[in-house]
Amino acid sequence: MPLIQQDLATIDPIVLDELTARGLFAEVLRLDKVHPVISGNKWFKLQFYLQEAIQTNKKHILTYGGPWSNHLVATAAACNELGLQCTGIVRGEWPKQLTPPLKQAASWGMKIEFISRSDYSMQKRKHSSTQSDLLIIPEGGYGNLGVKGASTLFSLLPGKSYTHVLCAVGTGTMLAGLSATAPENCQCIGIPVLNGAKALEEAIQLQTNFDTVNWKLETGFEWGGYAKHPTQLIQFMNSFFKKTKIPTDIVYTGKLFYAFTQLVERNYFEKNSRILLIHSGGLQGNQSLTANQLEFS
Ligand SMILES: *Cc1c(COP(=O)(O)O)cnc(C)c1O
Repeated sequence: MPLIQQDLATIDPIVLDELTARGLFAEVLRLDKVHPVISGNKWFKLQFYLQEAIQTNKKHILTYGGPWSNHLVATAAACNELGLQCTGIVRGEWPKQLTPPLKQAASWGMKIEFISRSDYSMQKRKHSSTQSDLLIIPEGGYGNLGVKGASTLFSLLPGKSYTHVLCAVGTGTMLAGLSATAPENCQCIGIPVLNGAKALEEAIQLQTNFDTVNWKLETGFEWGGYAKHPTQLIQFMNSFFKKTKIPTDIVYTGKLFYAFTQLVERNYFEKNSRILLIHSGGLQGNQSLTANQLEFS
């Protein structure tokens, strides 16, 4: 299933004066480069679900997401390439106009259905896999197969050694996968981009369940909640791009890299730390901004 080009995921150094001054070394794994639409971590979380669909001869994928879901877009594009039908169930009422991500998902052939928020969690359980040609993927690729997929990320880093790996956290599936295969003495640090870290922590615990806890969440970088992006965040993204040439997105990686620079400033990392940041993609989400807000695209 070579939908994406893993070898396009470069590992780039992050060169910033504040790092050098503190004796820190940082790199970024550019998952944003592997595919223009099936961005970043979404492919890694989807791969084993898709494999299962093909192996068990399922013709139809059904999955869930919000109106700004990168997961729905990625699933739609992947199904399109693999010749699978797909349906995306979206929380909320039919809007006058579809959001750009949903438009994109629909353009890849995804059938979009809206259900009210109150029905959403109920409905999630109702769609059972009794329909024999249907494979259901949980929202965000959450679940064992998603974690298994994300745990393959370390295979992109042969011969590398880090003391810390940082990633943005939505459902926490990527963080759980990283934590499953992180080498000894490597801390996995998740930066939640939505409010409600307590629930997230519990969800991630369910997905990890190992003796040694090698992960934690650092909160306080939500910027008001999911997909909220005040002007100061946009300003940070612009100035970070100017300094590093790394483009970030408003929902996930902008908040991740901001958190990183803040943690550095607080002397969170000991001297000689070797830090890897996962650029998990999501850049197409910037299309929801009005023109000229970002100095890159
Ligand atoms: C979905 C997504 C995440 C969050 O991944 P989870 O496994 O849900 O925590 C992070 N970054 C980007 C760009 C995403 O699209």
